[in-house]
Amino acid sequence: MLDPDKEKMEDGRDTYVHGLESLVASTMPLVGEEFFAEFVRRLAETYGAQFAIVNELIESDPVAVRSLAFWQNGQLGENIEYKVKTTPCESVYSDGQKYYPANIQSLFPDDEDLVHMGVHSYFGAPMISNSGEVIGHICILGEQSLAESEKAKSYFNIFAARAAAELERLKLEREIIHHRDKLKELVDEKMASLRHAKESAEAANQVKTEFLARMTFELKIPANSILGYAELLKEGNDSMSAEQQGFVDNIISAGWLLDNIINDVLDISLVETGELFINHTRCRVTECVNESIKMIECQAKEKSIRVVCLYDTDADACIVADKKRLKQIFTNLLSNAVKFNRDNSVVKVKITPVGKNKIRISIIDRGIGIAEEDQHKIFEKFERLDAEERWIGGTGIGLAITKRLVEHMGGCIGVDSVLGEGSTFWVEFAST
Ligand code: ADP
Repeated sequence: MLDPDKEKMEDGRDTYVHGLESLVASTMPLVGEEFFAEFVRRLAETYGAQFAIVNELIESDPVAVRSLAFWQNGQLGENIEYKVKTTPCESVYSDGQKYYPANIQSLFPDDEDLVHMGVHSYFGAPMISNSGEVIGHICILGEQSLAESEKAKSYFNIFAARAAAELERLKLEREIIHHRDKLKELVDEKMASLRHAKESAEAANQVKTEFLARMTFELKIPANSILGYAELLKEGNDSMSAEQQGFVDNIISAGWLLDNIINDVLDISLVETGELFINHTRCRVTECVNESIKMIECQAKEKSIRVVCLYDTDADACIVADKKRLKQIFTNLLSNAVKFNRDNSVVKVKITPVGKNKIRISIIDRGIGIAEEDQHKIFEKFERLDAEERWIGGTGIGLAITKRLVEHMGGCIGVDSVLGEGSTFWVEFAST
């Protein structure tokens, strides 16, 4: 180790200043493991020591440390972990910087490593964090006796401070990595549980949809036979009283209502299970609209509502769709427009081109309208807003089916409405 007489280099430069300068220059781009490897090399070189260690404190009672880099006789050695009790390092943790210029083997007879290493002098200093905590220590051990020098001591503290700064940065980095990993773990866990919940919900929905499809199919057979027999009763029986005929008429109209509801539920199940068959053909839009208007004419008449069709397109404009389903879409929207419109008013159907390749069909009423915050809900199954309280008949699945049918045929649907002023339901399809 350096003797105060040797604190100047051959060229007259100060050994410690040179040591620190070369440490700064060579460790500038380095962090972590690479920094500490370079650090111990420079430390050993500056002080002419055979061994140099930079240690991180890993336990404080009793004090245990783990080396971050260990310089041994001109090369990097394996890192080690040890308890400082009975070693020269112990006093660094109790008293601060420690200087044993010679005879450490007899001062620390229980530390067999000193004998193995063949060292006689020791110099150690604590690494102190910004907040004043001891977070580790650096030390050098030499084969020769060591002459004490104030300069050597104060530069040693500077080396210790530089190592402490890097260790603090490293700890912070470890903490950030730990938090990042923890966060990733939490996000992964959350995602897995969401995925699981979604899969369970989808499975439950699938079971429900299949059950609904089976059940409605089973309902359809007796409902049709009730209707059939009621029609037969009506046609072939003159002996019934007027009251009895009224009863049969009621059975028939209730039967049709039931049949419509069953068909709607069946349709929605078929769309959801992907079993709805679509027969694509070229459909003339005006023709489909006019046929649909005919189907709701009776309903409109009951409320003295006129249904008019206006078009800005060529009367032969066509879209590719399933004609039966297209008419079902128009009939559902028209039926709602009549149902929710004021008596003695008008429902308009407008057919307009959108750009070059699309056609928009709008069904416009001046009825009760829909509040903005409710507009996204009405396409959900069984959503009726306040139709129930207003005693307006229905099941709340018409729009849900309509939306699914439109999208199944590659179109889109929307609504513009102002509460109390009326609604415009529109659908758009690619034109041909
Ligand atoms: P239903 O008409 O059988 O109740 P729908 O699915 O066809 O079921 O409609 C869902 C709800 O959307 C209706 O209950 C009603 O509250 C609202 N709605 C639909 N069409 C209109 C309309 N033209 N004007 C006002 N509200 C409407």
